[in-house]
Amino acid sequence: MEDKTIFEKIIDKELESEMIYEDDQVIVIEDINPVAPTHLLIIPKKKIATINEISSDEKSLIGHMIFTARNIAKKVGIDESGYRLVFNTNEDGAQSVYHIHLHLLGGRKMTWPPG
Ligand code: 5GP
Repeated sequence: MEDKTIFEKIIDKELESEMIYEDDQVIVIEDINPVAPTHLLIIPKKKIATINEISSDEKSLIGHMIFTARNIAKKVGIDESGYRLVFNTNEDGAQSVYHIHLHLLGGRKMTWPPG
């Protein structure tokens, strides 16, 4: 069996992390190495390694992740100023944890194109 990722350990409560939000499908935590004043991670409880592995059955889960990010953005007050949602995928996408997660970044002006 493959080793658990850091996010599975947090979901399984083997590692402590403050939950900003939790429901039956996702958790939301602060990124340990924030790159913006608001940097949260929306993580599904179901393990899916990368966006390449999502199946058609999981389309509503992905929608739920985005809807959760939208709700949290409103809650922390960055909905009007703006924010960025990011799924990094595989090496060129700079993915480092192979359990999908949506980055919610805000609280500063972003640049485009990203680095
Ligand atoms: P990725 O590079 O895979 O898109 O994003 C993984 C993110 O997880 C990184 O931004 C990294 O800072 C964050 N991260 C890695 N380990 C931990 C951890 O133990 N706790 C939390 N809260 N975030 C983590």
